[in-house]
Amino acid sequence: MNVLAEMQSYGHERVAFHHDAKTGLKAIIAIHSTVLGNALGGTRRWAYATEGDALYDVLRLSEGMTYKAAASGLQMGGAKSVIIMPAQGHQPTEAEARAMGRFVETLAGKYIAAEDVGVSPQYCDWMALETKHVMGGNTVSHGGDPSPFTAQGCFNSMKACLAHTGRKVDFSNLTVAIQGVGATGFRLAKLLRAAGAAVLVTDVHVPTMKRAVEELGCVALGNDRNLFEEKVDILAPCALGGILDASTIQHLKCEIVCGTANNQLRDPVADGEMLARRGICYAPDFIANAGGLIRLAGLYLGMTEGEIDHKIVEIEATTATVLKQAGSGSSGAAAIAFAKAKIAAGAAKKQMAGAGCGSGCGCHS
Ligand code: NAD
Repeated sequence: MNVLAEMQSYGHERVAFHHDAKTGLKAIIAIHSTVLGNALGGTRRWAYATEGDALYDVLRLSEGMTYKAAASGLQMGGAKSVIIMPAQGHQPTEAEARAMGRFVETLAGKYIAAEDVGVSPQYCDWMALETKHVMGGNTVSHGGDPSPFTAQGCFNSMKACLAHTGRKVDFSNLTVAIQGVGATGFRLAKLLRAAGAAVLVTDVHVPTMKRAVEELGCVALGNDRNLFEEKVDILAPCALGGILDASTIQHLKCEIVCGTANNQLRDPVADGEMLARRGICYAPDFIANAGGLIRLAGLYLGMTEGEIDHKIVEIEATTATVLKQAGSGSSGAAAIAFAKAKIAAGAAKKQMAGAGCGSGCGCHS
């Protein structure tokens, strides 16, 4: 993979690679944009098949963070990092996390790390022993686990999808299928069950799936059935990205797709258009799953609890606006246009504040 060409095509500002000989840590930090401010984004720990896969993941995830922050009205840029695990099941250690923390520190606050798949609040606290540019821990750093806020935001986004499709905003007679009942999927299932929905679940980790069945009364899907082909009202992808493409979209029997996973569309343009052509309402992932970022970025930016909660409630209105703007086209593309307009407006405002607008309004005083 030609890294600079990829950076240019995605629009990245900086991509940094790191190897720590002592711990064996191999990691990449990708800063997509700092136009609106420093960039907060999770650290994903994953056993990638190739380095190219890791780079592709971090480039796409960090680009999505730029749009997520901007669409949420946060004065933050977009970045993400990945740790390439040497093998599936490799256990996280304090030494590895501290090496990652030292890597984060080299970016001097342009990048603020947090949790993503494979990284816990404990791991964030270990990283924070080496740098103050970490959110999402409970002791050394702060903010804690963002997943309850991500789940709440996704639930709010579902309400907008129901209204957009002309349905009653009432979950009591709905069936929702959730792929992945980990940190976010489980909490989303809990909210849906409390609101009266029937919830079908799958998870490759059987104990995790069992927990959703036993604690929440979800229904586990047997191996002979495919969640993506079930006739349900809402499909909620809450595992990994890239699961919606031509091969899966053609079989969908749901009216709405709204989940917490990042990068649900393999091809944001073509797959978004295919969903629209099939008349399936797609809640753009970076809007539906922004609750966790809003929580941690909000704390980082010094917002009050009330302001943060309000922003998570606003996810419903933002989803509704973007779905409306999409019309009969791709809501994924409409969401990117919505975010880019916010970035352009924020950049212009910053430029004006820096240069003085000359209108005598006092903005430069
Ligand atoms: P998690 O690791 O806690 O949960 C993911 C679950 O999906 C796990 O239980 C895993 O076993 C399961 N899974 C993996 N592949 C699967 C498959 N093919 N089929 C079924 N289940 C599968 O992660 P999470 O924090 O819940 O994050 C889930 C997704 O949401 C990720 O894409 C993440 O980037 C995104 N996200 C998370 C947050 C957050 O606050 N945690 C915020 C925004 C976006």
